[in-house]
Amino acid sequence: MAAYDDLMAFQRETEALGQVAGRLGWDQETMMPEGATEQRAEEHGAMANVLHGRRVDPRIGEWLAAADVTGEVAAANVRHIRRSYERTMKVPAALAAELAKTTSRAHRIWAQARSDEDVAAFLPILKRVVELRREEAAAVAGDADPYDALLDDYEPGATGAALAAMFDALRPRLVALRAAILDKPAPMALDRVFDEAGQLALSSKLAEAFGYDVTNGRIDKAVHPFSSGSGLDVRITTRTAARDPFNCFYSTIHEVGHACYEQNIDRDYLLTPLGAGVSMGVHESQSRIYENQLGRSEAFCGWLYGQMRDAFGDFGVPDEAAFYGCVNRVSDGFIRTEADEVQYNLHVLLRFDLERALMSGDLAVDDLEAAWNDRFAADFGFAVDKPSNGVLQDVHWSEGLFGYFPTYTLGNVYAGCLHESLRGAVPGLDDDLARGETSAATGWLRENVQRHGGLYEPLDVIARATGQVPTEGPLLDYLEAKFSGIYGV
Ligand code: ZN
Repeated sequence: MAAYDDLMAFQRETEALGQVAGRLGWDQETMMPEGATEQRAEEHGAMANVLHGRRVDPRIGEWLAAADVTGEVAAANVRHIRRSYERTMKVPAALAAELAKTTSRAHRIWAQARSDEDVAAFLPILKRVVELRREEAAAVAGDADPYDALLDDYEPGATGAALAAMFDALRPRLVALRAAILDKPAPMALDRVFDEAGQLALSSKLAEAFGYDVTNGRIDKAVHPFSSGSGLDVRITTRTAARDPFNCFYSTIHEVGHACYEQNIDRDYLLTPLGAGVSMGVHESQSRIYENQLGRSEAFCGWLYGQMRDAFGDFGVPDEAAFYGCVNRVSDGFIRTEADEVQYNLHVLLRFDLERALMSGDLAVDDLEAAWNDRFAADFGFAVDKPSNGVLQDVHWSEGLFGYFPTYTLGNVYAGCLHESLRGAVPGLDDDLARGETSAATGWLRENVQRHGGLYEPLDVIARATGQVPTEGPLLDYLEAKFSGIYGV
């Protein structure tokens, strides 16, 4: 066992340093004084170098070769470490350095181009990012599909072809549902100012209602909400908007879903490769099921309505039924991150198809904006008015994160499957939710998904929890049933 023990001791220190690097990032978005930007960039760079140096340490290869592995947990640890080591070793150091430098520049250029509404200013650097990522993918993939090599970083085991088949099945029913809904009169919208202190107080109450443990976490404000950290220190952020308290409440519930996944992993896996969420898709399934299938359900909305009346008095919505419609209002919009449950996945599918075409070379970077605008008009029925509402809206491509987008929709598909099983396992769920009580539901998710951390492969986690191979069917059935109820379509 000596080699395995040495490997795990080394890995534990790498995991601890990874947590430190993550906390630097958290600090930058929440607490860091404005004047510290340049120094922080250098601190990040130093941490990245230390971590990279550890990931390519040749002793890892020797320990892996000599490790005597017995049992499920040790096998899973070795699987994670081997995958990461082999992948890292396949990418030449010069290419990795060039990618880091180019994406950091591309991010700045993208931010400026977006504020100037100037696509042309972004395209040259985007071309370079695409080139470098294709080079990296080819180095990792060998003879396999390069897009799959990128995808594998976020969703081990997923393939572009399998996702494309699933997404092609989603798209027509989502387009049809969206069109039918928008033909009907919309539910009422909020039309009041909601004070910040009241929003933050209720947001904390919601985090508690969904089981977020603040003795091992904290909630702060950030421009873009996120969750950060694993194990005993898992932090979330939220934001407020004076006229849109739902933004605060549902951002909080979403991040609590991510954070609870991390907090509920078996403590024996702390600071090991099993001690974090297994993939972006499974992670997103937890945030989305907390946010949508539970948090935007009719029963829970009934409870939330009472909480909002207590916090803000009469806020212009007459009853629980009107409030449920108000929370689940579907309206036209350009922006993915602001999209409702019905339209969100259409935004993601558009990006997935375009980035796959960019990586395969079927789409040239110069034609990206036109391709985006055509596809948007086809699915959403109206034209993109400016680049910041279209091809420049998301940060991902500037950072070279090709293969990331599809995990958002995969998360929703997984959430659909888990929700179907959860309903079967917790028959009194709506009675619970109507009292703001989520522990039976979140307990089921903890037991069947969250506690395993990285023990099983992503697809296996969902298949074990639900008893079947995940498909898009349950998500579509859920969306059609829910929104036909609200809109009478
Ligand atoms: Zn998320």
